[in-house]
Amino acid sequence: MLDYLDLEAELTDEERLIRDTAREFVDEQVRPDIGDHFENGTFPKELIPKMGEMGFYAPNLEGYGSPNVSETAYGLLMQELEACDSGLRSMASVQGALVMYPIHAYGSEEQKEEWLPKLGAGEAVGCFGLTEPEHGSNPTAMETYAERDADGYVLNGSKTWITNSPIADVAIVWARDRSSDDTPVRGFLVETDRDGVSTNKITEKLSLRASITGEIGLNDVHVPEENVLPGVSGMKGPLSCLTQARFGIAWGAVGAARNCFETARQYATDREQFGGPIGRFQLQQQKLAEMATQITLAQLLIHRLTELKERGELRPQHVSMAKRNNVRMARDQSRVAREMLGGNGITTDYSPMRHMANLETVYTYEGTHDIHTLILGEDLTGIAAYE
Ligand SMILES: Cc1cc2nc3c(=O)[nH]c(=O)nc-3n(C[C@H](O)[C@H](O)[C@H](O)COP(=O)(O)OP(=O)(O)OC[C@H]3O[C@@H](n4cnc5c(N)ncnc54)[C@H](O)[C@@H]3O)c2cc1C
Repeated sequence: MLDYLDLEAELTDEERLIRDTAREFVDEQVRPDIGDHFENGTFPKELIPKMGEMGFYAPNLEGYGSPNVSETAYGLLMQELEACDSGLRSMASVQGALVMYPIHAYGSEEQKEEWLPKLGAGEAVGCFGLTEPEHGSNPTAMETYAERDADGYVLNGSKTWITNSPIADVAIVWARDRSSDDTPVRGFLVETDRDGVSTNKITEKLSLRASITGEIGLNDVHVPEENVLPGVSGMKGPLSCLTQARFGIAWGAVGAARNCFETARQYATDREQFGGPIGRFQLQQQKLAEMATQITLAQLLIHRLTELKERGELRPQHVSMAKRNNVRMARDQSRVAREMLGGNGITTDYSPMRHMANLETVYTYEGTHDIHTLILGEDLTGIAAYE
C-alpha cells in the first residue's frame, strides 16, 4: 500500500492493529460484494452490527462502551473503510460523528446511557437531519421548527438527503425552537417510530449507491422534554458535529484515492499493449507519479491535522482545508485511475469509477467544496463572502 514517506513508522502498535483489523474485515466481508451493492443501490445491512462489534462507530469517544482510541486510529479506520467504498465510511461517520458525538457532547446522562451503547454496538442505527429541501449550504435558514406543548415539543418540517434515515431507529433533528424569542437551533432525539415521522428513501442516485439515503418528514411529531439535547443551543450544535465528521472524511478520501492508485498501478503492470505492460510507457508512469505525490501530500496534511486534534489545537477551518483539499484530490485522481484502466475502467469489476461516482457526493456533502473555499477565504481575510 502506498506510504511513500513511511508514515507507518509513526504509528503505535495499537494503531497498526486497528488499521490491519479494519483492512482485513473490509477485504473479507465487504469488498467481494461491494460492486453488486453499488449496482443494486443497496447497503450490506447485515454488517451494521458486525461493524459495531469491531468497534467502528466512534471508537475515539470515551466511556459508554467506547474504547477511546487515538484520533490517528480513528482516522486510519475511516481510511480503510473508504478504501472500500465511501458509502461504508459514510455509515460509520454518520453513526459515530453525527449521532453518537452530539449525544456524547451535549446529551443528558439518561440520553447517553440509553443510546450510546446501542449505537456503538450497531444494535440501533442513527441519522442526522440538518439539510432541508430549500436549505442546504445555508442551514442557518432552516424552516423546521419546534413548539412547546404540555410536556415537551411538537416538531414540524422536512429534512432531505439524510444518510440512513430509512433504516434509522433514531434521528438527531436540528430545528428552530419557537418557544424562545431568539428561536435558537436545538437538537432533538426523534425516534423514527413516533407518530407523524416518515422516512422515504431517495432512489435515483448515481453516486454513493451503496448507502441508503432518504428524507425525514415531521408532521406534528410530539417529543418529550427529555428528548432535547440539553447541552447546546444555536448552530454550534450541528456545526461542531460536522467538524468531527469532516475530520473523518479528510482521512477517508485518502483511502479512496489510495485504492484507485493501487488498482491503476496493478493494472499498469498486468495489462499489455504494443508488446509489453502499459506501465512501461512514460505517459502512464507520469500519471502514477502524480497520483502518488498528491496522495502523499494529502496523507501529510491529515497526519498534521490529527496531531493538532490530539493537542486540542484543531480549528474548524483547519478541517475545512483538509476536507476541501483531500476530497478534491481523490475526486481528480479517481478519474486518472479510471482512465488508466481503459474500457475495463468503466465497469464495477474495478473500483475507480465507483469511487469517482461516490466522490461526487463526498465533494458535495458536509459542506460543498465551494463552501469550504468561503470558510477559508473568511479565515484568511476576515471578510465573509457567503451572501
Ligand atoms: C448522498 C448524500 C448524503 C447526504 N447525507 C446527509 C445527511 O446525512 N444529513 C444532512 O443533513 N445532509 C446530508 N446531505 C446533504 C448535503 O450536506 C447537502 O447536499 C450539501 O450541504 C449541499 O446542499 P444542497 O445540495 O442543498 O446544495 P446548495 O446549497 O443548493 O448548493 C448548490 C450549489 O451552489 C453552491 N453554493 C451555495 N451557496 C454558495 C455560496 N454562498 N457561494 C458560492 N456557491 C454557493 C454550492 O457549492 C453548490 O455547488 C447529503 C447529501 C448527499 C448527496
